[in-house]
Amino acid sequence: MEKQEFINKVDQYLIDPENIKKQAAINAKLNRQVDLAKTFFDKYDLALQRSSYIKNKALENTDKLLANFEFDLNNTKIKVIWATDAANAMNEIAALSKSYALPVYFDDAQIIKELDKDAESAALNISKTADVKSNFIALTKADFLVADSSSIICLNHETKAKQIQGNAAVQIFVCGIDAVIQSYNDLELIAALQSTNKYGEPTHANISIYNGNKLNEDDALKEDLYVIILDNGRSQILADHEQRSVLNCIHCNACSRSCPVALFSGEKAYGTVYTGPYGALVSHHIENNSNLTHLAFASTLCSKCNDVCPMNINISAFLAYSRRNAVKNKCVSKTENLTIYFWKNAVMKRSNMDKGGAKVKGFMFKQMLRKAWGNKREMPTVAHKSFNQLWRERKDFGN
Ligand code: SF4
Repeated sequence: MEKQEFINKVDQYLIDPENIKKQAAINAKLNRQVDLAKTFFDKYDLALQRSSYIKNKALENTDKLLANFEFDLNNTKIKVIWATDAANAMNEIAALSKSYALPVYFDDAQIIKELDKDAESAALNISKTADVKSNFIALTKADFLVADSSSIICLNHETKAKQIQGNAAVQIFVCGIDAVIQSYNDLELIAALQSTNKYGEPTHANISIYNGNKLNEDDALKEDLYVIILDNGRSQILADHEQRSVLNCIHCNACSRSCPVALFSGEKAYGTVYTGPYGALVSHHIENNSNLTHLAFASTLCSKCNDVCPMNINISAFLAYSRRNAVKNKCVSKTENLTIYFWKNAVMKRSNMDKGGAKVKGFMFKQMLRKAWGNKREMPTVAHKSFNQLWRERKDFGN
């Protein structure tokens, strides 16, 4: 989605202030529940530090942990499929559907939407509604992969996803390469933080664990099970040492609920799978679309997202890095570059700044910033005396 399209959609959303009131009330209610759920932790701040440490360590060892996860699944009923991008994953799913001669039903988890962003599901006979009585393949998200025990973890609050998984003849799970963690000990803390910050509940209602290592025991998996480990631009983020810890995200949505821009623009304006501050950081990688870099500018950089993030991700700093990268990679317009160039030259020298009166400066601001400022707010007027002049007068420095 281009920048102008984003602005148009925000304008449409803002026409009805009821939208914002409704969303603000929903956010406030959930935030109150989240605050209450946080009291179940003895030391919430310590939990944040630990979770961030655990996930950072996992991120640094992603390759080893994923190799470990796959190695122990050899000779089990769980098969690992590596997918570099969404098209790759969709082809694998279509091939499985063909070989089992079964339809594929999927839920609307974000990672599944990642696969279907070009609406290829229709072409591949993959559908969204499941008739749980007939034979079918279930395509659902996996939340975490535990490397030590080669387990697939699904955390849900909705019974529908569990019902679909439970009735399927074949299961396909999808998760990103960033979903791998070391052990169950790590999972306990991270899952509790996710549930607390996503649903305002201290723990998930449904926790399903699929472990391929029980092939020869009585409780071995009866059905075939596949796990698609999806890259889809994540390795680009992982390669970026400055911003890689954004992959520590556990998709709790707390940053979106706290972000004033996300509140006033509405989810639909983003037009991307992931929205809010997290979406602004990762969408251009995940959707492989450099036109989405403008989303990093859709932020007030107020740092509220940092304050609420349970993984201690420095989101606002990463947004600032993304802006810098967008400028470096020439993803901003020439007019904007020129404006900033003249602005920089003007403010670097006191004699330049003092040129012209308040009226001339006001006129210049309006001309330069009119488009970016928009018509929803008044442009502030320039004070008659500059800070420098006031300072000199008050300190009696003379002119
Ligand atoms: S960036 Fe942090 S607050 Fe936002 S969804 Fe991810 S974990 Fe939650």
